[in-house]
Amino acid sequence: MKSNQPVKEIPEDTLRDKGLRRKLVRELETKGIRDKAVLEALMAVPRHVFVDSAFREWAYTDQALRIAYDQTISQPYTVAFMTEQLQVRRYDKVLEIGTGSGYQAAVLAAMGARVYTIERIRGLHQTAQLVLQKLGFHVRFFYGDGYKGLPAFAPFDKIIVTAAAPEIPPALIEQLKPGGRMVIPVGEGDLQEMVLLTKSNEGEVQRKTLGPFRFVPMLENKI
Ligand code: SAH
Repeated sequence: MKSNQPVKEIPEDTLRDKGLRRKLVRELETKGIRDKAVLEALMAVPRHVFVDSAFREWAYTDQALRIAYDQTISQPYTVAFMTEQLQVRRYDKVLEIGTGSGYQAAVLAAMGARVYTIERIRGLHQTAQLVLQKLGFHVRFFYGDGYKGLPAFAPFDKIIVTAAAPEIPPALIEQLKPGGRMVIPVGEGDLQEMVLLTKSNEGEVQRKTLGPFRFVPMLENKI
């Protein structure tokens, strides 16, 4: 860590936070999230630690919130939905594009996945790293352009893209294992279509659309 980097103190996880989190998890269950491991992971990760202190009151409401650099922490329902679609298993090697606050990466780590996450904004990359370290989640962080994936660490069992791309980046399809799953919001407008891409054991790729979602754009070659 560079010495000029401010050390972020993380807020404590009070009984009130835990109670609000339990209520949010129940709400997600009523909205259709069924995978117990996903619900447990959302219960295990203190979302208020990932949002600006000004938004603490909203940390356990089911909405996306602004984080630094004009980016967002996804809505809890969206995080739960995408994670459920990935069918994460313990020890799965999972690649995330768009670290942002680090919340989604923490949820995946809480499920026992081996998480690799890429972010193109250095400040977010650094802050997320500090927060996850303080919370005790082990995640591998990379600063770079997620369009290229991480060829040196490929292939991955699962890939989750948390920024919207106009098309599914071919490098990411290549880096998905046979039998693997990728969830990615695709589209350029205000709303994108969530796409589940599966690769058969023979390497054949299939796409299924899962409905409209709203994401910040995935930006290419801007580093
Ligand atoms: N998963 C995050 C939310 C991500 S918001 C969380 O849990 O908080 C989308 C993030 O994708 C932003 O931080 C944005 O900077 C990042 N991003 C956009 N284009 C990218 C690219 N080409 N490579 C890596 N990260 C990118």
